[in-house]
Amino acid sequence: MNRRILYYSTNRKAPKAGFSEALLKGLAPDRGLYMPDHVPVIDDGILKELKGRSYAEVSFVVARNLLHDEIDDDSLLSMIKDAYGFDVPLENIYERKYIMRLDQGPTASFKDFAARLMGRLMQHFLRLQNRNMLILTATSGDTGSAIANAFYGLGNIRVVILYPKNEVTPRQRKQMTTLRQNIRVIELDGKFDDCQALVKQAFSDPELDYLSLSSANSINIGRLWPQSFYYFYAWSRLSGFPDDPAIFAVPSGNFGNLMGGLLAKAMGLPVKRFVIATNENNEVPVYWQTGHYSAVIPSRNCISSAMNVGHPSNLARVIALYGGLMDEKGFISREPDVAKMHTDIAAYSITDKQTKQTLKDLYDRFGVITEPHGAAGWTGLMEYMRNFPSDADPGQLAISLETAHPAKFPEEIQKILKIDPLLPESLSGLDKLKETYDSLENDYTQFKNYLISRY
Ligand SMILES: *Cc1c(COP(=O)(O)O)cnc(C)c1O
Repeated sequence: MNRRILYYSTNRKAPKAGFSEALLKGLAPDRGLYMPDHVPVIDDGILKELKGRSYAEVSFVVARNLLHDEIDDDSLLSMIKDAYGFDVPLENIYERKYIMRLDQGPTASFKDFAARLMGRLMQHFLRLQNRNMLILTATSGDTGSAIANAFYGLGNIRVVILYPKNEVTPRQRKQMTTLRQNIRVIELDGKFDDCQALVKQAFSDPELDYLSLSSANSINIGRLWPQSFYYFYAWSRLSGFPDDPAIFAVPSGNFGNLMGGLLAKAMGLPVKRFVIATNENNEVPVYWQTGHYSAVIPSRNCISSAMNVGHPSNLARVIALYGGLMDEKGFISREPDVAKMHTDIAAYSITDKQTKQTLKDLYDRFGVITEPHGAAGWTGLMEYMRNFPSDADPGQLAISLETAHPAKFPEEIQKILKIDPLLPESLSGLDKLKETYDSLENDYTQFKNYLISRY
């Protein structure tokens, strides 16, 4: 088999790390992001055998290709089965154009795919090293519930989540406060920024070193690999094998989802093009057009709120994959292979007005209910096909990713479609459950004593 994958930092000033080190550290010591130093290719024969397999089976084949040096097959398979017990519907819209719904997980967001396997991978290595970790996260709503659900019930990991009083919706709050077990939730009498400031201070407090604090945030390499699996799954279900490359449309904010796709392509998945769709935070489409990158500060408020990102953290990884070097501030000190990058990826910025129009069109013409993120992705695909008519051929396979459940955005759906999206069971059951949380003032000493007295 291939040589072991090591992980380098995108800032190139830290030593390479093995998988478990990169996973448990998160950020590299030079503040760069970890990237695989090579990506092993999956043979055509194995790709062909994916046809008709379940989501967990496809994921296992891809995961094994990446992690066979790190984790035994039985453990890997059982983590994957435990992480992915939900459907991944592929909805035909017209001809060979599809929407892949990544919204059936416990928090009804595609972030479940990444976070659930990352949690299980962390637990696996912490157990082997006989260590515990305390995950500290500040949230304005959705990140907290995805993290809480992903780590719920796992051993060797405890989670403390801080949310700002009065700034999360009752449903978001219940997704965190009804879990209990290893999950503690704090309602802070303050703003989101105050929550974040307390968490930051805790991370740099040497008296809390004994807790092994970690943020488990979205830049972790353990969240990237799992985001390559669904690209393989969609292709295995929809392609005519073997030579039937797909176009994938990816609604993007921090570009973790796109990175998952790019890594899938590097592993040999037949992809014709990735179409990235951002909202009005257009720094990446502008960079594609002009060759000049400049962050959008402050970020613009759009209805696809999870994509309101003015400086995407994973862009440094995209640039690294094409041989360039971008630091965490967005400064490019070595140019990537721009021609290759543009051959693989097309980029469009989609306005809120276009997104709303698409949401309505998809419903009126096809009876399909989407939400602002998925609708932006589909708009990107339509724009791409207008610009590249040969790729709009009826026989061309194209798959657009739907990243959240419409019921998470009831106000927009009601306004545009005049209907109430049905709540999935994972969300509707919450109202019957008991909530548990602690309330703290916005005061570091109080927060620190809280942690010390409980852990
Ligand atoms: C996080 C998120 C995105 C953006 O994904 P990235 O990987 O950050 O590009 C898109 N849609 C939804 C619903 C999200 O929660």
